[in-house]
Amino acid sequence: MADQIDGFAARHIGPDADAIDHILDTIGVGTFDKLAAAAVPASILEPATDGVGAGLDALPAAVGEHEALAQLRALAAQNTVATSMIGLGYYDTLTPPVLVRNILENPAWYTAYTPYQPEISQGRLEALLNFQTMVADLTGMEVANSSMLDEGTAAAEAMTLLRRAGKNKSPRFVVDADVFPQTKAILDTRATPLGIELVEADLTEGLPDGEFFGVLAQLPGASGRVVDWSAMIGDAHERGALVAVGADLLAMTLITPPGELGADACFGTTQRFGVPMGFGGPHAGYLAVHGKHSRQLPGRLVGVSVDADGKRAYRLALQTREQHIRREKATSNICTAQVLLAVVAAMYASYHGAEGLKAIAQRVHGHARAIAEGLEAKGVEIVHRRFFDTVLARVPGRARSVVDGAKAWNINLRLIDADHVGIACDEATTAQHVGTVVAAFGPGLGSTAPLEEIADRTSPYLQHEAFTRYRTETAMLRYLRALSDKDIALDRSMIPLGSCTMKLNATAEMEPITWPEFGGLHPFAPGEDAPGMLSLIHDLEDWLVAITGYDRVSLQPNAGSQGEYAGLLAIRNYHLSRGDEHRTICLIPSSAHGTNAASAVMVGMKVVVVACRENGDVDVDDLRAKVGKHAGELAAIMITYPSTHGVYEHEIREICAAVHDAGGQVYVDGANLNALVGLARPGRFGGDVSHLNLHKTFCIPHGGGGPGVGPIGVREHLAEFLPGHPFVPELGKGGAVSAAPYGSASILPITWAYIRMMGGDGLRRATLTAIASANYIARRLDEHFPVLYTGENAMVAHECILDLRPLTKETGVTVDDVAKRLADYGFHAPTMSFPVAGTLMVEPTESEDLAEIDAFCEAMIAIRREIDRVGAGEWPVDDNPLRGAPHTAACLVGEWEHPYSREIAAYPLGVDAPRPKVWPAVRRIDGAYGDRNLVCSCPPLEAFSE
Ligand SMILES: *Cc1c(COP(=O)(O)O)cnc(C)c1O
Repeated sequence: MADQIDGFAARHIGPDADAIDHILDTIGVGTFDKLAAAAVPASILEPATDGVGAGLDALPAAVGEHEALAQLRALAAQNTVATSMIGLGYYDTLTPPVLVRNILENPAWYTAYTPYQPEISQGRLEALLNFQTMVADLTGMEVANSSMLDEGTAAAEAMTLLRRAGKNKSPRFVVDADVFPQTKAILDTRATPLGIELVEADLTEGLPDGEFFGVLAQLPGASGRVVDWSAMIGDAHERGALVAVGADLLAMTLITPPGELGADACFGTTQRFGVPMGFGGPHAGYLAVHGKHSRQLPGRLVGVSVDADGKRAYRLALQTREQHIRREKATSNICTAQVLLAVVAAMYASYHGAEGLKAIAQRVHGHARAIAEGLEAKGVEIVHRRFFDTVLARVPGRARSVVDGAKAWNINLRLIDADHVGIACDEATTAQHVGTVVAAFGPGLGSTAPLEEIADRTSPYLQHEAFTRYRTETAMLRYLRALSDKDIALDRSMIPLGSCTMKLNATAEMEPITWPEFGGLHPFAPGEDAPGMLSLIHDLEDWLVAITGYDRVSLQPNAGSQGEYAGLLAIRNYHLSRGDEHRTICLIPSSAHGTNAASAVMVGMKVVVVACRENGDVDVDDLRAKVGKHAGELAAIMITYPSTHGVYEHEIREICAAVHDAGGQVYVDGANLNALVGLARPGRFGGDVSHLNLHKTFCIPHGGGGPGVGPIGVREHLAEFLPGHPFVPELGKGGAVSAAPYGSASILPITWAYIRMMGGDGLRRATLTAIASANYIARRLDEHFPVLYTGENAMVAHECILDLRPLTKETGVTVDDVAKRLADYGFHAPTMSFPVAGTLMVEPTESEDLAEIDAFCEAMIAIRREIDRVGAGEWPVDDNPLRGAPHTAACLVGEWEHPYSREIAAYPLGVDAPRPKVWPAVRRIDGAYGDRNLVCSCPPLEAFSE
């Protein structure tokens, strides 16, 4: 009998003790301990005492929601939320309350998954199309993607995009000296392994001599100056180079944007559009390009297409560029991006509209001018006379005392060096702040000269009705509700996406993220302002060390892909530090997630694919052969554990040993850690480094495709190569991989709260329940859809792959048909065609209760019966409820010319079935049509009327 549990774990874990007994009986193992022994290889399984094992005894005992929140409040109270005038890409912003409550605090938005099933994701796809339109309009570019991880990484992606898109084969890339220091640091990290040579220069003096493939500048610069870059862009083009410009979107409401000056790409952040600074993130970065480079864009791109009834519908466009398909030839390794924050930024623009944004920009600019004038009147030298929001003051020898003076008034200014102070204004700046800042410079007398005008933008922007219609709170509230009603998120249904671990995102975990004591911190604020945040970060590092068995953890990477990059970089730098320059081969099993190969290429490694056996396991003979062949050049293997096939491979220790023996390092992709916590530790069974996805195993919600956190754990010998940061020198010396030292710090309280509330016993039980439920589904569905791979004892890990290929061959019904038909039954589809084409991968997680799991199984079984009717010739293969799925309400009215009834279309289990009906917003979407007719911003209203 399974033990009864109470506390938070009983609310996080779906099946209660009786349900677990039923599940374990169905699998035929009886108890959790027998389950662990049957599923997990004895060579890695660690023993447990009183339900706590595998390092989890180092975690504090579980507390309930209220106690955890009280502890978080105490940590929050240690922080000082000063008025931030540091700038450098992070600005205070006033998030409209209607957006806080209805997006950031609304599970309909934050628990959604990446919109790979577009028919049930039209709401967030429309919001992202608004984001793309907003970015394209404000930057004057033609195509913008639907978010990047942050500004610094967006700059780095712009650099590599220019290299791919341009014809100039020079390895040199010119960077203006007045770019944000953290952006320069990331460019430097990214350039080195790719053999790109960065040349820093003051571009107001002209371009440097010699060849270069690209140029990167910023508008306004880090010093605040506003430069007209048109001559520089023209020069660069004449010399065969392409140009990327970092553009502040608020400034672009006043200043002629780089797109109109001929720039090839624009990048930046949308943070100041309503997204709190949060000690560094998460925020949506952006990247926009000239139309001719759209196929080179990294990240996701939403496009317009049509559905089966010819109606307008949105879906992800040009997916053939992505790592999922192109692997080492992809445009980038980005997978999880920043959807939730992109939605906030887009809605902020919708709510304010063009005039509202412009008024904010004018106010911000006015405050900056008032500061400049006030300082000049006191005899303080103002370095630049053209600026938007940031004033650069020269105070020889006095900078430190000025900054300290302002700090006494609770204002943080930017200390640049002994002689210079930067002052950045934002939406939250008041006349009082202006007066205080000027006073902080002390007494003096001088004369003022006129400042230069910057407002020279004449082109219109944000004229589409998405930015004019929702200007009252009532209209915005209803718009947000109407959009989220089109989508299936975790608040409506289980989301059984294999590899994605869509588990509960508990309200108590989410509450702290909108607290000002976490949200209001600037990432470069003095450490004394953030003791509570830093202590939370250190707790979390310690806990993840305990859970993974590694020696050190870095929380800087903003997604799993970035963790992969950071981890491989540590491996690269380790080899280089030992004089092993030639170790550049990275072995990757054929089943690996696409990000693995894409990340390896970004650190300059060469990918060698290792075959998988018939049963899905890594082919150890092929592995040994490849290790042998490349022994002297072997850098690493990247292996996912348990495998992407949802199986605990028994030979994992042998695999790790074979690579180690040849001098290689082992990267264990930890995306599937939900099957290991409390049972086995990658840092103990052979891994040298792993990334974890806090947005999978550790409850950070998916947000419709981000945010995420992809921390890495490393063993001691790699610790010195962990990510560093220009503003926090005590971090590692591995180079910055994110713009902020601790990445997306403001969502770390979610994971902190989860671990704190579960305790070691709760976490282990969660893992065992997730494994039990996956095996239960495998048992229930195997006779209807054969389970493709199992390990020893015919067990799967925390997910299972259902093989539809034989059925497709027999009946013509495809995996797409089944996925779309599930929407008619009110379910989100499982992962489709990953890691094996023509299959579905199901992951229930521990959070789904038995009733929901059974309902899912029954829907799948009912679908199997429908497939049989197609197979029996009762319904033609091109006209049946599966091929017609999903069915909208609108398609049921009027004429009906199908061989199946309207009832079967919309209510396959009958109109009295207990599950609430979900009405998909559109019918099956024609993706290819949209790729042929690429439209990636809001179409004019009349565009689809014909
Ligand atoms: C999700 C996943 C990744 C990528 O993580 P992101 O956070 O989306 O970048 C990498 N590997 C595997 C096996 C995954 O499931």
